[in-house]
Amino acid sequence: MNLILLGAPGAGKGTQAEVICDHLQIPALSTGNILREALKQGTELGLKAKSYMDGGKLVPDEVVIAIIKERLTAPDCENGFILDGFPRTVPQAQALDAMGVRIDRVIDIEVPDEKIEQRLSGRRVCESCGASYHMLYKPSAVAGVCDKCGGNTVQRKDDHPDTVRERLAVYHEQTEPLKDYYEKTGKLVIVEGQEEVSDTSELVLKALRA
Ligand code: ADP
Ligand code: ZN
Repeated sequence: MNLILLGAPGAGKGTQAEVICDHLQIPALSTGNILREALKQGTELGLKAKSYMDGGKLVPDEVVIAIIKERLTAPDCENGFILDGFPRTVPQAQALDAMGVRIDRVIDIEVPDEKIEQRLSGRRVCESCGASYHMLYKPSAVAGVCDKCGGNTVQRKDDHPDTVRERLAVYHEQTEPLKDYYEKTGKLVIVEGQEEVSDTSELVLKALRA
């Protein structure tokens, strides 16, 4: 099954991608994670992406399109994949179509903006393994220390409140039109994402069976 997860930053795409990955044994491809990893490694790609990411802007289409095009050729994508954070603009969706990639379902996780701001401002991520926590909703056992690997948990630069507002504005302007784009293909399923993670997972798994 070839899937796309749509939704605002902080809607929980990454968390649900993991749930689907466990369920269907297909890889989750996150352009955000790929870009952050490149940044950490200090590659040319990372350097190119840094200023956009830090400012809450989108990395240019041609850059992310090239990343996904390459990633989709890996053997682990043969039985399907979950796209988390791609496409994020209409030209990116058109590029995916032009590659001849068949999409079986597009799951859009909807969360109101106020809730997103709360979630992202309290989010902390592990510097070493990328595990995600929340100061109120999902604190690590010891403050500042990752439960999984003992690494430091920190706030992502783009989770600062001003940048979050910018990311939401970019989402509404450039990514939300994709709902219409995929509605027209008949593949779109909308799920509510503002309640508990497990509630959303249930809806997401149901959407796979639909
Ligand atoms: P979130 O969904 O929480 O905003 P991501 O980890 O998916 O975070 O993305 C972080 C940043 O990486 C984005 O704000 C953007 O700068 C860049 N990025 C990720 N995916 C894309 C994409 N498909 N197109 C353009 N930029 C992207
Ligand atoms: Zn960790």
